[in-house]
Amino acid sequence: MDVLERVTPNRRCVVAGSAALAMQAGLASRSRAAAPFVRSQAPSWYRFTLGQFECTVVSDGSIDLGPPEKAFLGLEQAVVGEMLERNFLPLDRSVIEQNALVINTGQRLVLIDAGMGSLKSLGPASGRLVASLRQAGIDPAAIDAIAISHAHFDHIGAIMSDDGRRNFPNAQYYVMREEFDFWTDERKLGSPVNIIVEVARKHLLPNRDRLVFIRDGQEFLPGIQALAAPGHTPGHTTFVITSAGRSLVYIADVSHHQVLLLERPRAKFVFDTDADQAVTSRIRVLDMLAAQRLPILAYHFPWPGIGHVTKQGDGFRYIAAPASTSATAASV
Ligand SMILES: [Zn+2]
Repeated sequence: MDVLERVTPNRRCVVAGSAALAMQAGLASRSRAAAPFVRSQAPSWYRFTLGQFECTVVSDGSIDLGPPEKAFLGLEQAVVGEMLERNFLPLDRSVIEQNALVINTGQRLVLIDAGMGSLKSLGPASGRLVASLRQAGIDPAAIDAIAISHAHFDHIGAIMSDDGRRNFPNAQYYVMREEFDFWTDERKLGSPVNIIVEVARKHLLPNRDRLVFIRDGQEFLPGIQALAAPGHTPGHTTFVITSAGRSLVYIADVSHHQVLLLERPRAKFVFDTDADQAVTSRIRVLDMLAAQRLPILAYHFPWPGIGHVTKQGDGFRYIAAPASTSATAASV
């Protein structure tokens, strides 16, 4: 029996009498009515276990950086094109994700970073964080701590609503002092970084009495340690989350691209405050991740942003972790 014979149903079984013929006709007419395109994606949250902690990645949606050569600097266009092509990625624009993280330690419910809010300067697909939290069964009012990796608008934009209410009314905020001071400085209003300063002031100043300043190396919440990685911004911070001997590193914006800035870690990113310092921090953090084989959550990598980093030639390679359909089986 050849393949075609095996998959072709026996007509005598399918067409058995007039009733069956009528039914066939009904099915045929229904199948001609095309279903409308749905155009929505599965709810954007992903749950996994880290030691005794329950973690949930929640998406704020994607942002569009435009042509890759305008965002990732110091590389020849042909080199960028070759890397993208080899990795089956579009050549004309870089669309990156925003993967925020919720950690339930059993005592505290901690959110790391807070998306774009209503700002649409990097495309219409962002601003979903609060909806994603609710879809994941997490009440924003239950979040009691928000750790801020840095004060760029794609990481703090949902702290306040546009009508001046707190989206997370019971949260304290944890951030480096140099980050707060730098981006809320009113002397930078009207400068080329005006939009970043305006957004930082909108979200951080109303919460000045709820801010807790954190230091490099400090375990500021049980199982959550700040590790400074300056350069992208002055107080840019990564977080090492540890429970029951298992650790995950939230790398924030150490790299904005899973290929370009890993294969070429000395390349620069357009929004870096001090790009040379950002390169030094990137290489130091990626070296540490590769040497210690630590799992990461990368805010801007493809959804949900969990994986590992290995050395590759002069640079690095990101290997996404397999996603699991079982929340209890998924762990890093
Ligand atoms: Zn970012």
